[in-house]
Amino acid sequence: MRKREHAMRGGQPHRDDPFVLIKGYKEPTVCPKCGLVFHEKKWIRDQELSNKLKKEKGIHYELCPACKKFKQHYPMGIVRLKGNFWMTHKEGIKNLIHNEERRGMGKNPLERIISMKEKAGELIIETTRESLATRIGKALEGAYKGNLKYEFSKGEKLVRIEWLRD
Ligand SMILES: [Zn+2]
Repeated sequence: MRKREHAMRGGQPHRDDPFVLIKGYKEPTVCPKCGLVFHEKKWIRDQELSNKLKKEKGIHYELCPACKKFKQHYPMGIVRLKGNFWMTHKEGIKNLIHNEERRGMGKNPLERIISMKEKAGELIIETTRESLATRIGKALEGAYKGNLKYEFSKGEKLVRIEWLRD
């Protein structure tokens, strides 16, 4: 188990998603970047409510946990695709990954892909939540077989997933 080196974490282990701490947000809060609304202790996508709230006084504006993770580059899931297979099936694989993101956002609007990069023969996807990374791994295995490996880091909510197919 590798320890995670990340400047933003300041060496402190996080057992929970530090960006979702309920007490950190007042109600109602609207995310100025993506428009999510913090309502009844949950972040929801509700354009009508968001528009209505924006006309009211006393509303708070603050980045939602997902937008904060983008800004501070703080992924909680990392998926690496290894081997030659993904390179020759790039389009299908990228579509599958984006479909999983759409499905994830349908369940929880805070589940998003932070980045998808090709680097040194790997495709690397960073996600805002571990559950989305896990689902991408399972979807790859379900669609293309291959070899799936998980590594949960101790004391932190970060999952590293490797999918290998040659
Ligand atoms: Zn947001």
